Amino acid sequence: MPYDKPIPDPSPHTKPFWDGAKEGKLMLPRCTNCNRVHWYPRLICPFCHARELEWIEGSGEGRIHTFAVQHRAMGAWANETPFVTAYIDLNEGDRMATVLRGVDPNKPETIKIGAKVKVEFEPANEDVHIPFWRVVE
Ligand SMILES: [Zn+2]
Repeated sequence: MPYDKPIPDPSPHTKPFWDGAKEGKLMLPRCTNCNRVHWYPRLICPFCHARELEWIEGSGEGRIHTFAVQHRAMGAWANETPFVTAYIDLNEGDRMATVLRGVDPNKPETIKIGAKVKVEFEPANEDVHIPFWRVVE
């Protein structure tokens, strides 16, 4: 089935992320001045404002920071309601917004803040593989 949801448009600035995603790697921007990882990718470190940034391969692991059950959505996402969105505390630092997999949106009481999650990538097209996070405990 063709991917029918909005597809991000990779730019030269975010190309390392999308290249990694195609190989199943979670690439993350890190500042070489303060050594902190940030998400989303920026041209300037949001913590110390340095411009010396690099890409590192993340562990692809994190924990649920918070979540919400979505009962209404726009476009093709409407076909998937209810679904769960979450913020993930990345093991390397900072947070990533995601659609959470491996959970039952009809039983939100079973979703635990702090639960361990792993990233997985879903091909949207030949060049863009989109990260989702799955509960693994
Ligand atoms: Zn910095």
